[in-house]
Amino acid sequence: MKTIRLALLLALTLLTACGEPDRTVEQRLIILGFDGMDPNLAQRWMDDGSLPNFSRLAASGTFAPLKTSNPPQSPVAWSDFATGNGPGTHGIYDFLRRDPATYAPAFSISENIPPESVLELFGLHLPLEDGQIINRRQGAPFWTQVEAEGGDSTVLRVPVTFPPDPIHRMMSGMGVPDLLGSQGTYTFYTTRPTMAASSSSTRTVRIRPDREGLITTTLEGPAHPLDPDAPALNVPLELRPDGDSVAIRLGESELTLKEGQWSNWVDVRFEFLGFASVGGIVRLNLVSSYPRVQLYVSPIHIDPRAPVVPLSSPPDYAEKLAEEIGLYHTIGMPEETWSLNEGHLSDEAYLDMIKTILSEREAMFYSALDQQDSDVVVGVFVQTDRVSHMFYRGIDPQHPLYPETGEAARGAIHWIYREADRILGETMQRMGPNDRLIVLSDHGFAPFRRAVHLNRWLVDQGLLALQPGAQSSSVGFAQIDWSKTQAYAVGLNSIFINRAGREGQGIVGQAEAEKIKQRIMLTLPGLQDPDDGAQIVAEVFDGDVIYPGNANQDAPDLVVGYLPGYRASWQTTLGGAPSSLVEDNNRKWSGDHCMLPSAVPGVLFTSFQPDQPLEAIADIARYAQEHWSAH
Ligand SMILES: [Zn+2]
Repeated sequence: MKTIRLALLLALTLLTACGEPDRTVEQRLIILGFDGMDPNLAQRWMDDGSLPNFSRLAASGTFAPLKTSNPPQSPVAWSDFATGNGPGTHGIYDFLRRDPATYAPAFSISENIPPESVLELFGLHLPLEDGQIINRRQGAPFWTQVEAEGGDSTVLRVPVTFPPDPIHRMMSGMGVPDLLGSQGTYTFYTTRPTMAASSSSTRTVRIRPDREGLITTTLEGPAHPLDPDAPALNVPLELRPDGDSVAIRLGESELTLKEGQWSNWVDVRFEFLGFASVGGIVRLNLVSSYPRVQLYVSPIHIDPRAPVVPLSSPPDYAEKLAEEIGLYHTIGMPEETWSLNEGHLSDEAYLDMIKTILSEREAMFYSALDQQDSDVVVGVFVQTDRVSHMFYRGIDPQHPLYPETGEAARGAIHWIYREADRILGETMQRMGPNDRLIVLSDHGFAPFRRAVHLNRWLVDQGLLALQPGAQSSSVGFAQIDWSKTQAYAVGLNSIFINRAGREGQGIVGQAEAEKIKQRIMLTLPGLQDPDDGAQIVAEVFDGDVIYPGNANQDAPDLVVGYLPGYRASWQTTLGGAPSSLVEDNNRKWSGDHCMLPSAVPGVLFTSFQPDQPLEAIADIARYAQEHWSAH
């Protein structure tokens, strides 16, 4: 009797303490994503025994290539995954879109809508309501449909999930901005003369030590929130020699770093008006010490302990997680690749950063799995993609940088696949007997050896007109004569017709547009590499054919399917037309997938035999919903 009463009392106390007791879900669908995992590489390393958990999963269930989206880009493919539909329905066609009115390239995933009413007071710019950040993906993802039918979903770091959906548990992925509102802008301090940064993700700051070696500078933060004419907010940054290390003071924080070393998280607080402030967190890497000091400061991450924009659902999940696992990278794409591309970070420092991010993501994913409170659990690890992009030069003997790639860098992709295998093992250990597991990637990988200036080809074809006297055009279509232009390329795979009534200075009518499309579809696959005569483009797809549905004005008229080895140049993606047609890709970003979809399928592993074929990434959404409805 006494024991029963004690148990009852204990139960009552627990109920009062936590409200409703959490459910324990016995039959979960767990979906583990490894962005960019390639079926051929997975097969190679399963065959040599280095991926034992993948081999075990393949043997007990299925392993097959998974059809990717067209174009095979992560934001497009993960939107197919979330909604079960193609770009013609969800509206994400490329990493980049263009504003049809101005032709200006813009990020396609999310958009800031400024507040409509603003009060001008004492020279300050006071917004009367909050601006809005919207996810440009349309249609309901399967996790919200599961919730609408009474289930619970946990969705962690899936690309194109910002702002977070109001579900049981979500941590937003690709799309989360840094404190500047960009997709990740780092700062590189150097005593060497600097060239203008070739990317808007890079800020280089020239620094000069005084006689004692003291360097005084600032870390620039966000724009003044209330006064658009005021300079950006900043915090002071000081460096001085300290033995073989460098002593650093950033804002209120003091730390010491050795050459090559990463700091822990450092708080930065940007004050304005004397009493208000906005805070973020950064990590520092001392690239080189005195006398030629070089310091990398990461993009300024939104602090998960006090997020200035929602990072999670429920909103306090980001903060609770920081209490549980420590501070973590919050930007959508924290494995920023430009620092390595520009030679600002070493291969070793870059891989160290990947390790840190990977361990944060693991802690986040295992914590959610251990709660066992969701019918559907989705976690995506994008580090497989980033390492494959940056280190493909290590496994591709034909890449221009292969000869100079060091031993550690040559093993990097194999390493990240073994890490994926270890994460898979940890996940399988956390599965109950009735749980089902799907492991997938959004696309595979191929070499990127030669960069194609597609806008140059359009100029040569007489379809893109340069301004009188111009021999080439810099990015943003700076030297383009729109009044004579019929077609232009922007983004990684897109070509647009300069249509009358759609484009700001459009000149091409409907009948003429069809003719131009047919001509490009016919001619572009005949383009040969001037170096060796190799074919560059396998196929050009007609947007009207591949995007049935309510395609909006972001839908490209044509989608270019490059052959492995070739990809649109960086200049092309941003609307540039340099003077050459094709050039060697001499950057560390050496693997890619923005090519012909059939050349870069993803992977699919399941722990069970699916009762109907799962052939394409969009099929996973349907399966997840049916799995939920069935039990
Ligand atoms: Zn990628």
